[in-house]
Amino acid sequence: MGTALFRPSWARAAAFRPKRKVVVVTFGGGARDQETFMPEGQENIPHLMRELIPQATFFTQVVNHGILGHYVATASLATGVYETFNNFAAVSPQSPTVFEYFRKDLNRPSSDAWVVAPSNGFNRIGESSHRSYGMGLGARVILPKRLLTAATSGGSHDYQHLLRDNYETPYFTPDVAGGEFELQQLERILKLSVDDFRTHAETLSSPDELSVYIARQLMRQVAPSLLWITLHDIDVAHAGAYSLYIEGIRRTDRLCGELWKAIQTEPEYAGNTTLFILPDFGRDSDDDAGGNGFQHHRTGDALSRTTWLLVAGAGVRENAVFDRAVDSTDLVPTLGAMMGFNPSLAQGKPISEVL
Ligand SMILES: [Zn+2]
Repeated sequence: MGTALFRPSWARAAAFRPKRKVVVVTFGGGARDQETFMPEGQENIPHLMRELIPQATFFTQVVNHGILGHYVATASLATGVYETFNNFAAVSPQSPTVFEYFRKDLNRPSSDAWVVAPSNGFNRIGESSHRSYGMGLGARVILPKRLLTAATSGGSHDYQHLLRDNYETPYFTPDVAGGEFELQQLERILKLSVDDFRTHAETLSSPDELSVYIARQLMRQVAPSLLWITLHDIDVAHAGAYSLYIEGIRRTDRLCGELWKAIQTEPEYAGNTTLFILPDFGRDSDDDAGGNGFQHHRTGDALSRTTWLLVAGAGVRENAVFDRAVDSTDLVPTLGAMMGFNPSLAQGKPISEVL
């Protein structure tokens, strides 16, 4: 006690207020309420229900008013503005991303903001084309599938189950160039040898497992303050098999549980990290004659636009549920208010219940 009293005040503040970190997880590409937190879906998300929701503030109505394509919707979540670009174009978001606000306002290095993204089509999500931002101010982007392709080129093992790039347009092969994390950096930055990476990939059953494996390595070795992980396995629903869709949800639930555990056990994250989990949007209703139910997200009906948000960890009230409508674009202003940067061009409003 004596030593604590005689330490300078700035050292006490540093000791008692560890640096705030935020991890954002997008819960699969398109998940409906009825297969997740609604009573009939809760059996599919045992980890969220038992481990996370009791410790979380939960919002039952998050409305996405934008375009329901995965890249453009995830980019909108990351800018706080409904982006309007073609979902299948190799373009950057037009409005500044949360990563740029964070790094510019707080003067953070590139090692402090990272994205782990599910498909090559997301390679430009880390940095906008906005003239006051962009250009070296964004997040570093890891595309685990691209790393695996590079690591196994010429190899005999079949990794096809991990390499399928997206579930909507199998023939879309985006132009990947610039900004993304390269294979050669695995060893240098993540302290993971290409051989270990390849060997470990053999034991993984899905692309999202590969993403979480990389994310955990990143947490251990780099410990970024702002980490964004986009999960995508659920979008296998486009193939039309309900069982695969449910399997995707159950896996995503399990991986969220693993990330929550990692946050609580990694010394750099334990006690100072807030976790946000939300789907990018829902999927079509079974009742809409214009769609095929869970298979797609084409009708733009209320069910496909309405989803949920779970916030847990540092500074967040436990076991609280709010039914008021929150907007998808509220995420970035909330992160800004929480971490101390100003997302001046974002459209949404900070979600006061978690601040
Ligand atoms: Zn989809």
